[in-house]
Amino acid sequence: MARGITPRRPSRSGRQDAARRAGGLKPTKGKKGERFGTAKGVPLQSDAAAKVKAAAKSAGTKRGAKTPGYDPIAPERVSEILKRLDATYPGATCALHHRNAWELLVATILSAQCTDVRVNMVTPVLFQKYPRIEDFAALEPAQLEPDIRSTGFFRNKSKSLVGAARKIISDFGGQVPDEMDTLLSIPGVARKTANVVLGTWFKKNEGVVVDTHVHRISRRLELTRNDDPKTIEQDLMHVIPREHWTLFSHQIIHHGRKLCIARSPKCAECPLENICHAGDKTWSTVDVHKSAK
Ligand code: SF4
Repeated sequence: MARGITPRRPSRSGRQDAARRAGGLKPTKGKKGERFGTAKGVPLQSDAAAKVKAAAKSAGTKRGAKTPGYDPIAPERVSEILKRLDATYPGATCALHHRNAWELLVATILSAQCTDVRVNMVTPVLFQKYPRIEDFAALEPAQLEPDIRSTGFFRNKSKSLVGAARKIISDFGGQVPDEMDTLLSIPGVARKTANVVLGTWFKKNEGVVVDTHVHRISRRLELTRNDDPKTIEQDLMHVIPREHWTLFSHQIIHHGRKLCIARSPKCAECPLENICHAGDKTWSTVDVHKSAK
């Protein structure tokens, strides 16, 4: 991408913030080689650029600086994050196609280390071939492998699916249980899968789904400083009101796919931009925090 169209990590200095405060300028696209200009798109000339630079210096914005009195998990901030997510991703839900709890369980197990798009390509064929949970239970794992090979880790997933079907039939009368403890006793089901099934199908907020997007974005938003999914979930359950747990997970997953992508997040388009201090922002109007990453 041509220089001058998108800033190259300017957020690390907080320079735009100072520029806007100093001159009321808004970031706009400029031609190749131009610096960012005014709201009317007029490129900054050398004098103006020098003034902005001086203003930025006097504003004292530094990379890694913490805003005085700033509390990333203050209820008001968390509430504002939730409000903006609601406005941006209303009614966000699980992207995995399913018609019942069993199909959702299968799809969620298959989604490990695989995209939802790929899983949604595999499951219609799979459920046409094996429409009932009893059909899965009657298989040997090796028989299932060719049908799910494209989702990766197909040997383990085959064992999990056949094992889960057998367990649900033998212990739970063929019905997927709606309790966390019992779900966790099923082969291939860990907290993430259980949370997806409980939250999406049974509408129970028993936890927060921590997938790769929730993991990354929770840290960027400073809702956690931990790196372990279980601890991150506990942190999120502590700061996010329970009634938002499932919706928050889906909204953040959508956000991670659309804007807050792992590499080069689209911060200039993000509705959370001016309350996000992530250290790897690609655009910022606020100070960035080294610890937020
Ligand atoms: S501002 Fe950037 S880093 Fe922060 S949440 Fe938005 S896209 Fe992610």
